[in-house]
Amino acid sequence: MLGYFYMTNTQERTLIILKPDTVQRGLVGEIISRFEKIGLKIIGAKMLKPDYDHFFHHYENIGKMISRRGKKTFDVTLEMMNAGPVIAFVLEGIEAVSLVRKMVGGTEPKSALPGTIRGDYAHMSYTHGDANEVGIPNLIHASGDLEEAKAEIKHWFSENELFEYETVHEKFTQTKRSHAKK
Ligand code: ADP
Repeated sequence: MLGYFYMTNTQERTLIILKPDTVQRGLVGEIISRFEKIGLKIIGAKMLKPDYDHFFHHYENIGKMISRRGKKTFDVTLEMMNAGPVIAFVLEGIEAVSLVRKMVGGTEPKSALPGTIRGDYAHMSYTHGDANEVGIPNLIHASGDLEEAKAEIKHWFSENELFEYETVHEKFTQTKRSHAKK
């Protein structure tokens, strides 16, 4: 029976950005290794210091942040993102968008669950951020859904900056029944 069905294509690409706090705290390797260890494939990577317009497009045109969080929060977040270089990655794997969001954890480090990146490496609260009028340095950005991931990847990477290659994990993470059609 199985041979008559098309296998669902569950492969997704998602964008992560290691924020200035991650770069300045020397946590790049530790955080990236979490994604590597579970078998996600890095298909693009670069360090850059984007200008205001680049972040505006990312957080507002794509992420609709002003309507969700307010202009004040938007402004302090952009200020925080401008504090130093960031490192952007495109990761690929099975249902990668929601999987990576799960690993990243909630926006506020104080309430992000232990075991998540934001829960394990930071503890700042919204209360502290608001009182001091600062953006919350929560280490990492990850695309919110598939549509956002597609728009963000297009915004941060050109086609020739994304690579195809085989990893040893794929024997285990990208198995297909040999008779299933692609
Ligand atoms: P997420 O990054 O979890 O998807 P948002 O897109 O809503 O969350 O917000 C983008 C970023 O703005 C957050 O990751 C955080 O760094 C910052 N931020 C969000 N809300 C606040 C807030 N109330 N105070 C300060 N910074 C905030």
